Amino acid sequence: MTTRYPERPDASAGSLPTPPAFRADRLTPAVADRLVAACPSTALSRRAGVLVYDVGACTACGRCRQEVPEAVVDSGVFELAALTRGHLVKEIVLRGGGSGTDRGPRERG
Ligand code: SF4
Repeated sequence: MTTRYPERPDASAGSLPTPPAFRADRLTPAVADRLVAACPSTALSRRAGVLVYDVGACTACGRCRQEVPEAVVDSGVFELAALTRGHLVKEIVLRGGGSGTDRGPRERG
């Protein structure tokens, strides 16, 4: 069921999972790699010292939070509207910088 936005809150919003929020202070390159491996929808990738999170590809499945609960929490946010596709892609700088794999550029815009 859809409702007019923002005429009234959707009653189901309180019981549905929301996309994750990442705690940058807990994210090292090794932790980021575990998160990337756990994500089934390619919403996560690592580019050197940066965790790239594509909110538009995230299904809020919760697997990343299950994998590293100390580094991932529920965002509690449903409102994901953005003017451009690129605004849905977030880059989170990792602790300890990044040596290792550059997983390549992400589609933007
Ligand atoms: S909630 Fe699921 S789809 Fe979204 S980033 Fe985490 S593992 Fe990937």
